[in-house]
Amino acid sequence: MVTPYKHEPFTDFTIDENRKALEEAILKVESELGKEYPLIIGGERITTEDKLVSYNPAKKDEVIGYVSKANKDLAEKAMKVADETFQWWRKSKPEMRADILFRAAAIVRRRKNEFTAHLVKEGGKPWKEADADTAEAIDFMEYYGRQMLEFKNGVEINSREVENNRYNYIPLGVGVVISPWNFLFAIMCGTTVAPLVTGNTVLLKPASSTPVIAYKFLEVLEEAGMPAGVVNYIPGSGAEVGDYLVDHPRTRFVSFTGSREVGTRIYERAAKVQPGQKWLKRSIIEMGGKDTIVVDSDADLELAADAITYSSFGFSGQKCSACSRVIAHQDIYDELLQRVVDKTKEINVADPTNHDTYMGPVIDEGAYNKILDYIETGKKEGKLLTGGEGDNTKGWFVKPTVFGDLDPESVIMQEEIFGPVVGFSKAKDFDQAIEFANNTDYGLTGAVISNNRDHIEQAREDFHVGNLYFNRGCTAAIVGYHPFGGFNMSGTDSKAGGPDYLIHHMQGKTTSEML
Ligand code: GLU
Repeated sequence: MVTPYKHEPFTDFTIDENRKALEEAILKVESELGKEYPLIIGGERITTEDKLVSYNPAKKDEVIGYVSKANKDLAEKAMKVADETFQWWRKSKPEMRADILFRAAAIVRRRKNEFTAHLVKEGGKPWKEADADTAEAIDFMEYYGRQMLEFKNGVEINSREVENNRYNYIPLGVGVVISPWNFLFAIMCGTTVAPLVTGNTVLLKPASSTPVIAYKFLEVLEEAGMPAGVVNYIPGSGAEVGDYLVDHPRTRFVSFTGSREVGTRIYERAAKVQPGQKWLKRSIIEMGGKDTIVVDSDADLELAADAITYSSFGFSGQKCSACSRVIAHQDIYDELLQRVVDKTKEINVADPTNHDTYMGPVIDEGAYNKILDYIETGKKEGKLLTGGEGDNTKGWFVKPTVFGDLDPESVIMQEEIFGPVVGFSKAKDFDQAIEFANNTDYGLTGAVISNNRDHIEQAREDFHVGNLYFNRGCTAAIVGYHPFGGFNMSGTDSKAGGPDYLIHHMQGKTTSEML
């Protein structure tokens, strides 16, 4: 028996001891920067000439690590290994696979500060955000391990006097996992261990800007007893390695989290049946959001302003769940906007190595330029109320930015910016607020701040998003409490951290024996 699941508590860094522990861990991580990391294929370490370089986004010349880069040949080698390993791994005991996850979770928990410190450096995450990322990685392992134990004997169906019937879930095969840089630990870990625990083998291609954390995680899985060849670590370019593996006839499924542009492309490629391919590939695709907080006329405006500020600027707005649009009822629009602007002005933007930093950098130069371009568009479309500038002298820093008086159809209110930018539009009543809230291509998260029960119920039915929150912000879903995933162009709604997530990595098999 295992203990019931509960989520990993967040660390209170106002406690001296906790603060000192993370400061020491950061120093330790700093002393180990700039190392080289090989690929891992079938347990074998392979070093290549060609390297990915991972940089600290807060100090653009500080190298986190040099990571060997896979090419097509190495991707093919990894596919062969994963395919062969699958032949026996698919029959391994679910309990044993779950135990690997539980042990790996315990190892990460014991080394929590070290992992969190690494995320501060490689991801540019402020302490609180980095701590939540590590906690979520632990949660995914604890939760999916338990879910597998629930599924291991199949699901009950009916038998008859003349026959015994069973319904079981079996694994799919080799999965290609392409993970994002924003939850560089949590989502990389969750999307890797879900296929592993369900009996699949994995080719893991982590985000090119944050590959080192994935190597460190592979080491944890190995220490926890994962056999060689089950998860293979093959960082590399999307255009070369990513496309090659998505197209490969032996790929059974693809699990991708990232941009809409790349996600739709992968979905399309994976749908094409290649010569020699014997199945239809399954695609688990989680993409972006254009997430709205709706504020009603009788809302608690202090709560609303806090929720908007945190949801918009937590991790510099680089969450697919981030609030990037606010639709406010006309009666409270001015006051709410003023409160958000005042709170935003107080945010300190700095190197996240410092404990007090609320907001760190954005991930890289490409993101920095793209966000500043959107800010220029925003200046034309609406009223810039605070922020609106960047500073790239040391790292990729963008000031938290608020635009008012936008048309809900404007670019700033429609396109995903993935940065610290939030726009405000006014609605004449609650019906119009919901209409505006739904008026994007996406459908990931949303929140309604209201004290009107009828409006809450109306939103529950009509606000079309995968994760809808009342009287709180729209980020920070917790594994096992808020299954996470979205509608429309946000993706396939696979609901990470939810009771049916593992099912996407398996197929149902009915057996019926005549008596
Ligand atoms: N699960 C995260 C949240 O609820 C967002 C994940 C993402 O940005 O990809 O904030």
